[in-house]
Amino acid sequence: MLKLAQQPREHILELKKQWESQYSEMKAAGLKLDMSRGKPSSSQLDISNGIFDCLSSSDVMKAEDGTDCRNYGLLDGIPEAKRLFSDMLGIPAQNIIIGGNSSLNMMFDAISRAMTHGVYGSKQPWMKLDKIKFLCPSPGYDRHFAITELFGFELITIKMNSDGPDMDEVERLVSNDSAIKGIWCVPKYSNPEGITYSDAVVKRFAHLKPAAEDFRIFWDNAYAVHDLYIADQLLNIFDECKAAGTEDMVFEFASTSKISFPGSGVAVMAASENNIKQIKSILTIQSIGPDKLNQLRHVKYFKNMDGIRQHMKKQAEVLIPKFELVTNMLERELTELGLVSFHKPNGGYFISVNVPNGCAKRVVQLCKEAGVVLTAAGATYPYGKDPDDSNIRIAPTFPPLSELKTAMELFCLCVKLAGAEKILS
Ligand code: PLP
Repeated sequence: MLKLAQQPREHILELKKQWESQYSEMKAAGLKLDMSRGKPSSSQLDISNGIFDCLSSSDVMKAEDGTDCRNYGLLDGIPEAKRLFSDMLGIPAQNIIIGGNSSLNMMFDAISRAMTHGVYGSKQPWMKLDKIKFLCPSPGYDRHFAITELFGFELITIKMNSDGPDMDEVERLVSNDSAIKGIWCVPKYSNPEGITYSDAVVKRFAHLKPAAEDFRIFWDNAYAVHDLYIADQLLNIFDECKAAGTEDMVFEFASTSKISFPGSGVAVMAASENNIKQIKSILTIQSIGPDKLNQLRHVKYFKNMDGIRQHMKKQAEVLIPKFELVTNMLERELTELGLVSFHKPNGGYFISVNVPNGCAKRVVQLCKEAGVVLTAAGATYPYGKDPDDSNIRIAPTFPPLSELKTAMELFCLCVKLAGAEKILS
C-alpha cells in the first residue's frame, strides 16, 4: 500500500469522505471512554485483593525488630519492608527510606526540601538562587514536569533517543551551566515511550560532571518490575555511581502503586549515606513515621522478590492482550499509510504514538468530540507544549478489552482523518 501522502489527491479526497461518514456514525453512538491516565483496571486490582487478608485483629502486628506497627516509630520504615525494596531495586536496605503511599509525593518533597534547605553538598537553599533549570527528557511524565514548573524552574527539553535521553546534549548542558540542578528520568519502560535506558546511557549518567556541585538525577524507577514480555535489563545506577565515586548524585524512587494499589501502596526513596542523613534530619521534623501497617500487609502478602515476580506475571496476563490489541491495530490501520510511528514496549504502562507533525491536537480533539478521552496532546512535553504537535500517549490499561477496541477504532479513524486534512490543506 502507498503511504497516504503519496496517493493521488482525488483518492485521498474520496478516502476522507468515507472516513468522515464512519466518524459521524461513531460519534452518533455516544461513546464515553477514557484512555487518558495510566490506571489499572478493576480486574487488575482484584489480583491484589489478598493483601486485605494479610492482617486481622488476631494477628501480632509487630515488625521483625519488635516494633508495634500500630504505634508511632520507625521513621524510615520497618526492616522487612526495606529488605523487600532492597531486593527489588538492588540497593542496600540502609540506603532506603520508606515513605507513604506515593513516590510522586516523595519526589515533590525532595524538590521542596532542596528549595528550602538545599541537598547534601548545596552551598545554599535552591530558593536563594536567581535561576534554577531542570532537564526534562521528552516525551516524558507530565507530573514530573509539573512539579519543577510549580517551583518556577526553567524546564529544558532533552530529546529521547531509542536508548534513553540524548546524552551528548545532557553532558554538554550540565557541564557548562551551574544553574542546571537536576534531570527527571524514568529509566525502565519510560513513561510514555516504554524505553529502557541502555547500559551505555546509565554509565554516562554515573560519570556526569555537572557544573552544579549539588546536581541530582531523579531516577524514577516506577516500572522496575513491570515486565510484559522478556524483561528489559536496566543497569543498576547505584552500583555505577559508586564505582564512579558519584553516589551522592542520584535520588532513586519507586512504589508499589502499579504492583498493588495506586494510592494505597508503599513508596520508597533511595540515596547515598550522605543524602539519607541530610534527608532524615528534615524528615524527622516533618513526620513521626509513615503507615507501617500497610508496609506489614505488603510484606506478608508478597514475602519476597519471587512473590513480586509471580504477582507481576498475573498482571501481565491481564495487560498483554490490551497492549497487543493497541499495537496490532496501530500497525494494521496506520503504519502502512505512514501515519504513525511507535515503539512496542516490553513492559510498563503506556504506548507512545507519533502522528504526523501538526496533527496530535486535532486527533485528541476529534476523539474527544466522539466521546473518547485521551491524554492531552502536548502533555508529554514541558509546559504542555510539543514543538512538533505529534506525540500522543495511549494508556491501554484501564478500559476493559472490548471498550479498548472501540476506543482504538475511533483513534485510528481520527488519525486518518487528521492526516488526510493535513495532506489536503
Ligand atoms: N512515576 C511515574 C513514571 C509514573 O508513571 C507514575 C504514575 O503513573 C508515578 C510515578 C506515580 O507513582 P506513585 O503512585 O507512587 O506516586
